[in-house]
Amino acid sequence: MLGWNAERWNRWNYRAVVEQVLTAGRFLDRWEVSEGGTSVPPGTEAWLLFQGSSGAASGLIGHGVTVSEPLAAGQLQRDEGSGLHVGIVFDALLPLGEQIPSDALSAAVPGIPWDSALHVPVLSVPPSAERALRRLWREQGPPAIDPAELVPGTHPPDSVSSIEVNRYERDPDARRVCVAFHGTACAACGFSFEASYGEIGEGFIQVHHTVPASMLGSGYELDPVTDLVPLCPNCHAMVHLGVAAPRSVPELRTIISAAGHLPGEVVSEQALEAQENARRILEGP
Ligand SMILES: [Zn+2]
Ligand SMILES: [Zn+2]
Repeated sequence: MLGWNAERWNRWNYRAVVEQVLTAGRFLDRWEVSEGGTSVPPGTEAWLLFQGSSGAASGLIGHGVTVSEPLAAGQLQRDEGSGLHVGIVFDALLPLGEQIPSDALSAAVPGIPWDSALHVPVLSVPPSAERALRRLWREQGPPAIDPAELVPGTHPPDSVSSIEVNRYERDPDARRVCVAFHGTACAACGFSFEASYGEIGEGFIQVHHTVPASMLGSGYELDPVTDLVPLCPNCHAMVHLGVAAPRSVPELRTIISAAGHLPGEVVSEQALEAQENARRILEGP
């Protein structure tokens, strides 16, 4: 846990840094770890705790991974600061004002002494608290970048409206309601990240907005239960691939079951029924 004391150090143009993480996926900088950070090996997961300033409340604001041993300031060829620094790649930062507030932190991750974390430059996270901390960050940190968006050509050139649709898919509150109602298994293929990957996959799923952009009037209000569905990244990519208006989930299910066996193969009614049952079990109630 790295403490960011903005009263003491505020060298970043934070807006620009957040923007860079959004567009490039990462931002490399160094971070002062003082004496507390002598034992931070490269590859250590790090969270950035904004310690508050006159204008903004404290809260958890960023995540990254260290990429160097702690080095004295001179070795990193910067002119300011003193003491030890680590190189760190930030992979997710929340805009200032959207940091996860302190009371939410102590409620969700009681295993971390948050009061002291707010006053020290470095605090090591007890292993017993890591899981809760990761979960909190996954749920309330910035949403993972949608792989459907990264495939070139999946959106038409005039895709302003597609970006509008993705805004709903990224709304963390809407996402929470959708997942609470539909669960975290893929609504199209039934894939569950927790079932396949165990602990690290827990709670991971993308959320897809099913209402085509063309049907969104100015008075449109999102209903997270009827308008959003959980989809695994594969199915999510496939509903958007090559089409301006996304395919529907039933349409995708039909495509999956049609592609699931080789042409000419005879599939019995019982086999189809068993597949359907398996899907229902995976999807949960
Ligand atoms: Zn799927
Ligand atoms: Zn989508």
